[in-house]
Amino acid sequence: TVAVVLFTADLRVHDHPPLAAALAAADQVVPLFVRDPGVHALGFDVPNRAAFLAQCLADLDASLRGRGGRLVVRSGPVEREVAAVAAECGAGEVHLAAGVTGYAHRREERLREALRGRGVEVRTHDAVITAVTPGAVTPAKADHFAVFSPYFRRWSQERLRDPIPAPRAVRVPDVVRGEALPPRDGREGVSPGLLPGGESAGRERLADWLRAGIDAYDEGQDDLAGDATSRLSPYLHFGALSPVELVRRARDHGGAGAEAFVRQLGWRDFHHQVLAARPDASVRDYRTREDHWRGEEVAHEEIAAWREGRTGYPMVDAAMRQMAHEGWMHNRGRLLAASFLTKTLYVDWRIGARHFLDLLVDGDIVNNQLNWQWVAGTGTDTRPHRVLNPVVQGKRFDPRGAYVRRWVPELRDVPDRFVHEPWRLPEEERAALGYPAPLVGLADGLARFRHARGRDDRPQ
Ligand code: FAD
Repeated sequence: TVAVVLFTADLRVHDHPPLAAALAAADQVVPLFVRDPGVHALGFDVPNRAAFLAQCLADLDASLRGRGGRLVVRSGPVEREVAAVAAECGAGEVHLAAGVTGYAHRREERLREALRGRGVEVRTHDAVITAVTPGAVTPAKADHFAVFSPYFRRWSQERLRDPIPAPRAVRVPDVVRGEALPPRDGREGVSPGLLPGGESAGRERLADWLRAGIDAYDEGQDDLAGDATSRLSPYLHFGALSPVELVRRARDHGGAGAEAFVRQLGWRDFHHQVLAARPDASVRDYRTREDHWRGEEVAHEEIAAWREGRTGYPMVDAAMRQMAHEGWMHNRGRLLAASFLTKTLYVDWRIGARHFLDLLVDGDIVNNQLNWQWVAGTGTDTRPHRVLNPVVQGKRFDPRGAYVRRWVPELRDVPDRFVHEPWRLPEEERAALGYPAPLVGLADGLARFRHARGRDDRPQ
């Protein structure tokens, strides 16, 4: 007997329920990845993620070959390719991870439709892409949690399965042909500091993190210059690491750092259960507001300055330049950059979210869109009118200005006390920096926002 395993956002061999189930049910399996033009049409095929994906696929293929198998890559509409592969090898089952996004749900439906009547069963598996399945914990009177804290309490009580070891052997039928893997190197537009993709690189990073990083996480989480977060997000995004395994291993490790880390993984699941229940939250306000956001037509130059990291606010510019260089941005930087765009410039969160998706290697429809909504105050933040002040936040989370100096070389030699407010330098010195003056006054931005929202919350 033969079974097909369709890999999607789960590019790994460790802790992979669909692969384990297929191997248990059949003598031979076809590990399949389909390059679906539908995904490309949605604009997700950007250089940083394409490069990282190619490395994930190469690594997955190498892991499977090490076990006697190989990865089969095909291009075309996913249901057409899966049906063709199943027919070629006479497969009776297709296994895949249960999806969360609207796209993933439609994919499942299309698969079922294409395979119905051909005697091929589609089996989806939970807790592959998230640690706790969306919908597994719900409040008394709703289909999902809209607030993180009560969700996290319930999430923490869920029993997680034991991680499944990688299989020892994988036998793939010879008849099924695939195409060449996408090239790993030589793409244009890839950020120079991009992390290496793939499960092997992810597992190495995880081992280093558990050995030398996680214990200091609770203290160092917001220290921008210290760069003390795990940077595991790209591996989680492509499923090169399993969230179940991460939570289990962090809990086994124990301590305050591990607890804080597990909490962040809880945030990841929280957003997944919101989007699973409300797929349109990827484009529409989760909570409807009367916002009259400014768009490209009126705020074209301000948006361009924000994108290019020349707003004149050192923390915002440092964060935006880090993203351009590394395809990744520190969480505190993301919060500040997004707050500045939406609440100081009063620009539509969708414009900012699109730009992040164009560059972030971990950029994903769930975490990106819902974090943007959280910051814009249209999402799940229980204090939707809060505004982050980049100067106050800079002094707090980058007190010596080391993060700013790393990414904004124009400010390298500015004394600490001016590094977050270079406009306070004597005019001659300021002009010599070659660094822009602030795009708008913070007070003006705040006044516009308060007026628009009709609120008077103090900035933080
Ligand atoms: P760590 O601090 O080491 O955290 C561990 C893991 O927890 C992360 O890898 C991530 O999977 C998860 N996590 C942490 N914080 C969050 C959060 N707020 N929401 C969801 N999951 C979280 N994360 C993405 O994975 N993809 C995105 O596209 C994305 N866009 C964002 C956009 C904005 C405006 C903001 C404010 C946050 C966004 N985040 C996104 C969340 C967070 O910034 C990143 O997950 C984190 O910075 C990744 O770095 P890390 O792996 O070192 O995180």
